[in-house]
Amino acid sequence: MEAHEFSSRVNILSELSLKVDASRSREEIIRILKDNLKRLIEGECAFAGLLSHNKTHYVISTLSPLMDAIELEHKHFSVDVGMPGWSIQNNAGIMVDIDSAPAFHPSLEGKLKDLGIRSLIIVPIHTHEDMIGALVFGSSKPGAFIDPDIWLAQLLSLQMAIALRHTSLMERAQKRVAQISLVNQVARKLTSTLNIDELLSSAAEAIQKNFQYFDVTIFLQSVEEQDLVLSAHSGNYIDFLPHGYRQRVGEGIIGWVAEHGQYVLANDVSLDSRFLSHQYHNTNSELALPIISDNQVVGVLNVEDTKLYAFDDTDVLVLETLCDQIGSAVRNARLFDEIKHTNERLVELDRLKTDFVGIVSHDFRTPLSTIMLAAKSLLRKEVSADRLKEYLSIIVDQAGRLSLLAEDTLSIAKIESGQLNYQFTIVNVETIIQEAVSMVKISARHTFTSSIEVSCSYVRGDQNKLRQVLQNLISNAVKYSPAGGDITVVVSQHEQQSDEVLFSVSDRGLGVPPEYLGRLFQKYARVDTGEAGKIKGTGLGLWICREIIKAHGGRIWVESVVGKGSTFRFSVKRGT
Ligand code: ADP
Repeated sequence: MEAHEFSSRVNILSELSLKVDASRSREEIIRILKDNLKRLIEGECAFAGLLSHNKTHYVISTLSPLMDAIELEHKHFSVDVGMPGWSIQNNAGIMVDIDSAPAFHPSLEGKLKDLGIRSLIIVPIHTHEDMIGALVFGSSKPGAFIDPDIWLAQLLSLQMAIALRHTSLMERAQKRVAQISLVNQVARKLTSTLNIDELLSSAAEAIQKNFQYFDVTIFLQSVEEQDLVLSAHSGNYIDFLPHGYRQRVGEGIIGWVAEHGQYVLANDVSLDSRFLSHQYHNTNSELALPIISDNQVVGVLNVEDTKLYAFDDTDVLVLETLCDQIGSAVRNARLFDEIKHTNERLVELDRLKTDFVGIVSHDFRTPLSTIMLAAKSLLRKEVSADRLKEYLSIIVDQAGRLSLLAEDTLSIAKIESGQLNYQFTIVNVETIIQEAVSMVKISARHTFTSSIEVSCSYVRGDQNKLRQVLQNLISNAVKYSPAGGDITVVVSQHEQQSDEVLFSVSDRGLGVPPEYLGRLFQKYARVDTGEAGKIKGTGLGLWICREIIKAHGGRIWVESVVGKGSTFRFSVKRGT
């Protein structure tokens, strides 16, 4: 190289250095070099290998059009391979022909060789504190480079190192400042609503948009805690993962985080065996953090990126802070839901109780006035023996209704306070059926039959309570078959349980619509539609029956077809 040519290149170098120095970002530095390098060092190709955060890899940034053609841009190589790796590890420059290179790597220098590159200069990029990467120039001529080229390359790489360090310090400081204000913004969103779905959606969106993450998802643990349910999503994969998508706890990186309650930072997911790849995925980095509330993992915040080494400790710190806030926002929202729900239930119970008082007092008054009327008639006139019998049977019948009503009303209070006492003895089945029937008025439209298998003549239980159950079921059978029909009580051996007896009370009445069957034995449950809805009642009789049968260690259930009739069955222990 002639002296004047060398000095003109030094001029170009100082001009380049000034521009690089004034750059504000790594991208700008790369662009300036790309536009000007050819004037500084001759050759067909140039690229930089810049170290990743943890300095285990270097990532290629191409600096010449020829390099763009062979798809090395953004490829990463371990510092243990290739000549740039050697230069970085040994902090030394290299000037060689590819063929005689000691650290030749087929997928790096091999590609250059395919392009026809024969000689290389490689210099490390470093400041005195920090190794940043390596700068590479290549030429198609063998032995193309001479000492002045390596000096120029070294000077340039020093300028680059200083500029890159400045921009990275500046970027980090800017990122910190921006993050603090963004955390505040996201936190403000979290406290603005108590609706969980809304809260999580706006958190995911705010985190993704404000921090410019590639993709952000928030999963919540399902109630059974076996699954993580996708509850909010913002970013590039949004069209691929449906809302409500489920992943099992323990499965994939997010499953691991939910199971262990610790964050995972996988900056190269291909090295993490927990990573679960989806078809649409071109994720290279993933950061997943647990959302904890009351010392329990309630969900996972997951951030993904197509770049390698996309996340650092600052991301972990910021997202951990946000996860804490999401955790307490979720807890507040859940508490609010619970209170709202309890409140609604209390209002509903209050309404039902008010109805109940009205219905009970109506139910008490009706038989009482019938009794009064029959008794007054008896007092007033001379009555024939037939009439006398009729009035007396009305009085007995209505008194029976009253007594069941009083018994049921009393049972409710006792069941609720846990004070319903039982006296277990051996009970004669026929006796309780007769007692129950005698207290229910079976109208002329109904016929009543009963049958008891001989082996089932005795059961173990509280005589009065079992009679009360039968009386409730038989009086319902009458009440809910207004058009009449057969009412039968069958007592038989329980097919599956040899020590149990099965009582079945059947009618041919209105039946129960299927959607009510599951809740008929709950407190205040009533069919409120159709004909049955017009018949007055409290919705407490079957609940009392269930409580009594439960205390006997038995079960009660119903089989019914609308318009055809119902069969209520209960089981109790055999008496002998
Ligand atoms: P009530 O009869 O006072 O409403 P119950 O607890 O005895 O309360 O019954 C609850 C509901 O179950 C009734 O409102 C009725 O809709 C339905 N039901 C009970 N027994 C029968 C039956 N034999 N046939 C049809 N529906 C019935």
